Amino acid sequence: MIKESNLPEAAAVFREVVLAGDYYLGKVSAGQVFRLLDLEGNQAADTLFYCADDPAERYSATDTIREQGNVYLTAGSILRSNKNQPMLEIVADTCGRHDTLGGACATESNTVRYDLEKRCMHACRDSWMLAIAEKPEYGLSKRDITHNINFFMNVPVTADGGLSFADGISGAGKYVELKALADIYVLISNCPQLNNPCNAYNPTPIEYLVWDAA
Ligand SMILES: [Zn+2]
Repeated sequence: MIKESNLPEAAAVFREVVLAGDYYLGKVSAGQVFRLLDLEGNQAADTLFYCADDPAERYSATDTIREQGNVYLTAGSILRSNKNQPMLEIVADTCGRHDTLGGACATESNTVRYDLEKRCMHACRDSWMLAIAEKPEYGLSKRDITHNINFFMNVPVTADGGLSFADGISGAGKYVELKALADIYVLISNCPQLNNPCNAYNPTPIEYLVWDAA
């Protein structure tokens, strides 16, 4: 569902460009709103969320899909934790659909899907592992790297239930905006994938912006 935001960029209290292949790890407080902006289009932002009070409680794809009765995420979606608690709400979306079924790229999956020589290519899982190693104050470890959301990524489910990694439906300047319903850690890998069309074989930067509660 397409829903535009009325938050002016000039009122953002924080903004940071995340380069392709880089990560962002930070905290948003309950009531704050943040936006992921696809600067050049057709990018994928592989994202994990944790409750700041107890990072063992984190985003759950299965709870979110079951409760909303739909496999796609868009405006109106409530993102739920593994304790079935609301963590975030998607409050604006100009892309229209985001994936939470396809998982993130890893060196192992690149090897299986594409070629043995892809083994050493940079993948989202590497970026997440680097984030938790460089920022130990968040208290995250390897066991916290679980199922994720791929913002802007297009993984349509076929009529017979199959998954396909399709060319993206996002474009330059499209965005998704989320409101934090609790204090949340946000961990983004701006995907460096070069083997499938999730980012048009051309990884590009995204921007992360935060607004205080109205
Ligand atoms: Zn990736």
